[in-house]
Amino acid sequence: MFDLEKMFGKKFSRRDFIKYSSSLAVLLGLSEMYVPRIASALELVVSQKQPVIWLHGAECTGCTVSFANTHYPPVAELVLDTLSVQYHETLMAASGHQAEQALKDAVRQFAGKYIMVVEGAIPTKDDGIYCKIGGRTFIEIVNEVAKDAAYKVALGTCASFGGIPAAGPNPTGAKGLQDVIGGTVVNIPGCPAHPDWLVGTIVSVLMFGKVPDLDNYGRPKLFYGKLIHENCPRRGGYEQGQFIRSLGEELPDIEGCLGAKGCRGPVASADCPHRLWNSGTSFCIAAGAPCAGCVEPTFPQTPLYEAIPEVAKVAEAEETDKREQAIGTFGASLGGAVAGAAAAAGGIYFAMEKAKNGKNGNEEV
Ligand code: SF4
Ligand code: SF4
Repeated sequence: MFDLEKMFGKKFSRRDFIKYSSSLAVLLGLSEMYVPRIASALELVVSQKQPVIWLHGAECTGCTVSFANTHYPPVAELVLDTLSVQYHETLMAASGHQAEQALKDAVRQFAGKYIMVVEGAIPTKDDGIYCKIGGRTFIEIVNEVAKDAAYKVALGTCASFGGIPAAGPNPTGAKGLQDVIGGTVVNIPGCPAHPDWLVGTIVSVLMFGKVPDLDNYGRPKLFYGKLIHENCPRRGGYEQGQFIRSLGEELPDIEGCLGAKGCRGPVASADCPHRLWNSGTSFCIAAGAPCAGCVEPTFPQTPLYEAIPEVAKVAEAEETDKREQAIGTFGASLGGAVAGAAAAAGGIYFAMEKAKNGKNGNEEV
């Protein structure tokens, strides 16, 4: 029997532990029958603190703020108690030379064991001089820390795909982590990323000793396996041709679809509709804002309030049969029903945007 109090450094009952294990099962989308397995896996992992080195590049630090606001406080607590965050520029008390030394010491001491989390894009133009920390370029720091990392995680759309720092004309040549270091990188995009997506990924890695299944863009299928559109509360409006024509408008009998106002839900893969944000309160579409597709490599290059051409056709169809035909054509282009594979959808949309713009917009100038 393991000593919970010793492991967590506080009063912690077996009942609390099972409760933690149940909330982790929910977080990971597993059924109750997995709770005993999760509990025994946790017994193993919490006895040895997992070192984490968390680096910040070209970004706004929003993903750290989002992580700190995780809506499963016990899970965040558990993860923070289980992890040993050796270096985190925003949260650590040390600064200046002391902080730089802490990074060097952590890399040396935990070589081969630590999880590297990168938040923010990596400016690569002119040898990376546009992002320097402690006199060294971020590209140099990232390459050095990546060498001995057990797992590499890109947190947020900037670290995953370049995001806002890489938006055209991308004067600093900002890129995502995978484009810079290659190899296996777990991308957890989002602007910001949902705290559960990081907590769940780390817990999954710690419990199963490997990265979860990833989609074509390196995102855990666990959280990014379905299109927003599949579980959208406004889907009825889409099917019935009830579209919101000006933001803030409310339709009398139905939640109107935001597709005519540029919603990217049909081509963005994430579990926002059922995970919800702000402590499970709501999410963009439920709050009346079109999904901006913030988890996709095309973000923020796609025009925010401009309808996807195929959705515009659905919204413009005046007769039911024409609308059904437009829905069917769009669904087929996405690899079956609109509820088809997320990866296929992302790929087709990416190609569509590329064809439209002549490039993905994230290239260096
Ligand atoms: S287009 Fe957007 S608002 Fe409309 S059903 Fe799809 S996800 Fe929901
Ligand atoms: S609904 Fe869309 S824009 Fe909003 S957080 Fe989810 S993926 Fe991002």
